[in-house]
Amino acid sequence: MDFKLLLQPQRFVVALAIASLTFGSPTLAFMAGSGLTQLKPLSADFSEANHLSCALHALGNNYLDFNHLSNDNASDQSQFSAPGGQAGSRVPVIAGNWKLNPATVEEASTLLSLLASNFINHRGGIAAATPEVIVFPPFPYLERAMTLLEGTGIKVGAQNVGVESKGAFTGEVSPSMVRSLGCEYVMVGHSERRTLYGESDDTINSKIKLSLQEQGLKVILCVGETLEEYENDLLSSVVSFQIKKALQGISRDDIVDTVAIVPGTRLVIAYEPVWAIGTGKVATPEQAQIAHAVVRSTLQEMYGEDVAEKIQIQYGGSVTPDSISDLISMPDVDGALVGGASLTADGFTRIVDGAAASLSTY
Ligand code: PEP
Repeated sequence: MDFKLLLQPQRFVVALAIASLTFGSPTLAFMAGSGLTQLKPLSADFSEANHLSCALHALGNNYLDFNHLSNDNASDQSQFSAPGGQAGSRVPVIAGNWKLNPATVEEASTLLSLLASNFINHRGGIAAATPEVIVFPPFPYLERAMTLLEGTGIKVGAQNVGVESKGAFTGEVSPSMVRSLGCEYVMVGHSERRTLYGESDDTINSKIKLSLQEQGLKVILCVGETLEEYENDLLSSVVSFQIKKALQGISRDDIVDTVAIVPGTRLVIAYEPVWAIGTGKVATPEQAQIAHAVVRSTLQEMYGEDVAEKIQIQYGGSVTPDSISDLISMPDVDGALVGGASLTADGFTRIVDGAAASLSTY
């Protein structure tokens, strides 16, 4: 797809998003009916959907019924065109935030093993692991996760990091520590960290700066407005402000990924409306698109269009296997940050497959 053709509609969507924030639902209705949701220039592998074999039955209790998913291209690997081959395309990223779960390392190991078997037996491991998939277990399970997910294509990330590299900081964990374990991602600025642990924008900024000093480490920055802010039409200003504060003093060169094969960045933004996290109230695809357009235009203002177009923006907040397809069909929704539904291997795998399936239609 011609990148320039892509950019025009995206600018239009950004304009619509801003207009929607200003003028409300008529613009939304127009946007929903305009077919703009079909513009995302991504394609993805959707393979082996019907190939979950008896092996999984033998492994026991983790059978996924994927037969409802169409699989016309399943055996034709030549039809797989890797996202990123086209300028401006973004690899979708699905991440599972386990929070303070599960309670024991044995339970964590079971979840990891089931996830690994789903990916190896059903998705064919790394070869079919588009979208990019990451799990964020609690710190004590990170090393176990690295071991049990080896060969699956699933990456491992840390839910939080401190603001110091080493020294007398009891209870803290540094970005270099998690990187040395093999983690590729850290999550920063989750709303639970902000509200329950009083993390300020300045602290979040320090964490990102320190993390980006670690070669090979990428950052998922979470932002999002509260219900009160949403109801007072403050989404745009809150989200924009959070991004600008979190990324203050961080340059283009700091975030552009110079070693990646697929052109990309070391930064992912997770837009997570606080009112949708753990509440079962998922934002509508149109609501998500409006917010994501705000995120992208803020990034564009800070880093220029070329960089902003490469940054993946996830939606987070009560995502389920049922809601992923519609959400990810939006042009600026590049994946999902999943809490509750990532705590079962089947639920999480279905979300990954939902993302892959809808992308394969582009
Ligand atoms: C989250 O914790 O980031 C999250 C989105 O949780 P949930 O999916 O449970 O709403």
